[in-house]
Amino acid sequence: MHYTGNIYRPPFEARSLLLQVTTGCSHNRCSFCTMYRDTPFHMEPLEQIEQDLEEASLFYPNTRRVFLENGDPFVLPADRLAEIARLIHEKLPEVETIAMYASIKNIRGKSDDELRRLRELGINDLNIGVESGYDPALKYMNKDHTADEAVYELKRLKEAGMDFGLNLILGCAGSGNGEANAVSTAELVNRAQPNLIFTGTMHSEPGCPLDEDIRSGAFVENTVAEYLDETEALVSRLELEHCRYFSLHPSNIVRVDAVLPRDKTELLREIRLTRERMSAETLASRPRRFGEGAVLL
Ligand code: SF4
Repeated sequence: MHYTGNIYRPPFEARSLLLQVTTGCSHNRCSFCTMYRDTPFHMEPLEQIEQDLEEASLFYPNTRRVFLENGDPFVLPADRLAEIARLIHEKLPEVETIAMYASIKNIRGKSDDELRRLRELGINDLNIGVESGYDPALKYMNKDHTADEAVYELKRLKEAGMDFGLNLILGCAGSGNGEANAVSTAELVNRAQPNLIFTGTMHSEPGCPLDEDIRSGAFVENTVAEYLDETEALVSRLELEHCRYFSLHPSNIVRVDAVLPRDKTELLREIRLTRERMSAETLASRPRRFGEGAVLL
């Protein structure tokens, strides 16, 4: 298989065939993100994609799930995505689901008919970086959508029959704003009813605007206690029909793989127990971080 640039996938796509159809991210301007900072966006040639699928058909002929790379392949025009889906089904006839990262802007660029057509071709389980429902935080992160716009586009996806997961960043509104971020984000999530929530906490890598703001003091990160309070405020407000709550990313302070609403009481209990186990000094501190924002607990 042919891969260029940094390749990312969500942890729950570990068993999927990774097929590169784009390089980089078409947006590439989120204030906290360095994933593709030095990688210009481009589409991979169809010949290359076909060649990769030929190879996959020899080594993994029973593939059922494909994850399209890279940062936001759903930006591709519907006709091109349809052609890629057609090639996938031709070479790997057992494929049931073609998943990928997507942004709200990517959905905005597709008509209702196009969304339905793509769903019929097996495109599903989009992983969407909504990050927050709090408009000041969305603006600060340069997400290019408001909370209301996100809900509108997510409802269009739902009406087209597509399942989706939402990535959320706890602490993205900064210290002192956790409650406001939790309340607005819970409202967005409840209106959108995703199948999955994937949480992380606000962290930066050298080279992004957030990193400069943290160094200059323009952005003040949550304390550990604030992260716990914000997580509790979010979870306690979630009213979901059926949703996986996945917080195993190492940047989280409470790490669970749960199902809501089934595990809501247990999850809230886990947050409270985590707080009780920590010293006052730890709770008042900012998290100590390592690679990928991993928090040392
Ligand atoms: S967070 Fe996602 S949309 Fe934003 S720049 Fe990074 S890859 Fe692109």
